[in-house]
Amino acid sequence: MSNRDYYEILGVGKSASDDEIKAAFRGLARKYHPDVNKEPDAEEKFKELNEAYGVLSDSDKRARYDRFGKAGVGGAGGGQGYQDFSGFGDIFEDLFNGFGFSTGGRSRRSPRRGRDLQMQVSLTFEEAVFGVEKDIEFSRDETCSRCSGKGAEPGTTPLRCTTCNGQGEVRQVRQTFLGQMVQTAPCPTCNGRGETIASPCTTCRGAGLERKKVKKKVQIPAGVDVGTQIRLNGEGAPGENGGPQGSLFLVLDVKPHKFFKRRDQDVILNLDINIAQAVLGAEVTIPTLDGDDKLKIPAGTQPGKVFHVRGKGVPHVRSKNQRGDEIVIVNVAIPTKLTKEQKELFEKLAESLGTTVKPQEKGFLDWLNETLGG
Ligand SMILES: [Zn+2]
Ligand SMILES: [Zn+2]
Repeated sequence: MSNRDYYEILGVGKSASDDEIKAAFRGLARKYHPDVNKEPDAEEKFKELNEAYGVLSDSDKRARYDRFGKAGVGGAGGGQGYQDFSGFGDIFEDLFNGFGFSTGGRSRRSPRRGRDLQMQVSLTFEEAVFGVEKDIEFSRDETCSRCSGKGAEPGTTPLRCTTCNGQGEVRQVRQTFLGQMVQTAPCPTCNGRGETIASPCTTCRGAGLERKKVKKKVQIPAGVDVGTQIRLNGEGAPGENGGPQGSLFLVLDVKPHKFFKRRDQDVILNLDINIAQAVLGAEVTIPTLDGDDKLKIPAGTQPGKVFHVRGKGVPHVRSKNQRGDEIVIVNVAIPTKLTKEQKELFEKLAESLGTTVKPQEKGFLDWLNETLGG
C-alpha cells in the first residue's frame, strides 16, 4: 500500500469534486499506464493512482479516509496489480478506445462465459394465454466427450506453442501520438490456447466441441405474448477455460385466434348481432377463453357498442390471478338477402315508420343500404 496521501497522488485538493477527481485520474492514468510509459517506476505509480482513485471515487470510502486515514479503508486495493481492479473498466475503455488499445490482462485463456443461443417457439393463442409445457429440440455445441474438450486424441498431450511460448498472446509494438504502444493479440498459431495439438481428437478434429441435439421440456408461463423472451440459464454454448455456460433465449411467437384479437391483457371479440336483436334486445351466446358464455344485449343497442366481460381476458404473466377482460364490440349486421315474408315485414315496418322513408320513393332496404353503405 502506498504511503503517500491519496489527494496528493491525484494532485487535487481535499475539497475536490467527483468530476475533478475523475479528470485528474484520467490524465495521470494516461500518463502512467505501463503500456504507454516505459519508465521503470511507471507501473508502481499506476498502481498508486489506482489505489488512490479506488478510494476517492467511492463516497463511502472517501468519507472514511477523510476521518481515519488509510486505517479507515484498510485493504482497499493494497498491493494489488492494476489488472485486478474491477470497476475501472468504463474509464479504461473510454480512455483508450480509438487507440486500438487492448485493455490488458485478459488473455484468451481466462475463463469466459459461453455464447447465448436463441430459438423461436411457436404457441397457439390458448397456450400463450394459459401456459403450457413444451417439448423443444435444438442443437448446441457441447464439450467433446472423447477428448473432454482438450482437442487432443486421448493418450496424447498437446505441445506448448512455440510462437507465443505458451502465453496464448503475442505483443505488437505500434507507434501512436502517445508514443510507443504495446498491443496484445491472441496468438495466431495456437488461437490463444497456448498449446498446439499434434494429434487432434478424431471426434471433434481438435475443436474440443461436439454438435449435439438437445431435447428439453420447458414450462411456458400463462400470459406470455408475441415477442416474450424466456431465458434458460446454463442452456447456451459451453464456456471456455472453465467459464460458465451461456443462456438459451426462447423467443415466443403466437398464432392468431379464430375469434379473438389480443390487446395486452384483454381479448377483443367482434360480435355480429342482427337488426331485430339490436332493436328488441337479446341474450346471445359468446365464445370466451373459458368456453361459451351468455351476454345480455339490451334493447336499442347501437352498432359499435362495447361490452366488457370482466375477468375473461389473459392472465398477467407475473400474477396468474389477475386477468384482463373480454371486450365485445357489437356490429349490427344488416341483412342483404331476405325471404318474401321478411321483405313484407320490413315493408310494413317502413310504412309504420312513415315519413322517414316515403319521400325517397324507395324501399326501406335501399334507404338502409345507402345510408349505412351496406
Ligand atoms: Zn474431441
Ligand atoms: Zn501460440
